[in-house]
Amino acid sequence: MGLEVFKLDGRVALVTGGNRGLGLVMARSLAEAGADVIVTSRQKERAEESAAAIAQATGRRAMGLAVDVTDATQVENMVQTVLQEFGHIDILVNNAGINIRKPIEEFDEESWDLVQSTNLKAPFLCIRAVARHMKERRSGRIINVASMLGIAGLAERSAYCSSKGGVIQLTRVVALELASYNVTVNAICPGPFATELNTPVLNNPQANQFFIDHIALKRWGNPDELGGATIFLASDASSFMTGAALVVDGGWTAE
Ligand code: NDP
Repeated sequence: MGLEVFKLDGRVALVTGGNRGLGLVMARSLAEAGADVIVTSRQKERAEESAAAIAQATGRRAMGLAVDVTDATQVENMVQTVLQEFGHIDILVNNAGINIRKPIEEFDEESWDLVQSTNLKAPFLCIRAVARHMKERRSGRIINVASMLGIAGLAERSAYCSSKGGVIQLTRVVALELASYNVTVNAICPGPFATELNTPVLNNPQANQFFIDHIALKRWGNPDELGGATIFLASDASSFMTGAALVVDGGWTAE
């Protein structure tokens, strides 16, 4: 088996929330491996700017779409637009996600529902929207971005941790449903990466030190360090892997 198995030429990858942070790195990495990519944001300009930057850096075709992934109609429209423009979808990366941190007794229902609908309901909506297409083609790769906090708990993240644990279980069940159609479904579980999502921790010296102490490698991840695992899960290199959760967390959950 040569390095050819990592190549994604001719494939089309849809990355939700691919306009910044880990999603942008994943989308750019897939394009570097040869895929055409679609990135989304709730804001059209942000998605289009990121798509243009990816196209310029990689020479691949890239499109930006405005989508709120918690809205079933917008998700269905997103998939139809991509199919019209690109003809097929080979790779879906369910990346869009949010975190709201509060002690349990202060957690309001609105915040709870927003975290669950963005982190857990949206991957369900996106998978449902591409499943028929991937089944018909008897080919596909679905990557759900879970978290080390889908495995380990952390105080004041009740909604986030439970949503990400749910993503790992969703991954297993859908993997079983789609396996006979040659569609693989895996989760990727990032650990602490220095992105906008973690601004509250990065800006708080005490919380930051708590994080460093718990990361075996004693440093935050650079978002670029998620690229290799993404290409692996999206490519033929992972052809015998489905229903799995690949942890990329600097050793946090090894403890
Ligand atoms: P960022 O906050 O940097 O980016 C979040 C992305 O999600 C943005 O592109 C944002 O787009 C998009 N998004 C949020 N809500 C919606 C929505 N309703 N509809 C569409 N898009 C939405 O976060 P990260 O890059 O750090 O995180 C990406 C994923 O990785 C998340 O699922 C997160 O839980 C997970 N993760 C991150 C870790 C980390 O340490 N950074 C660790 C473990 C997991 P926009 O605001 O432009 O609409």
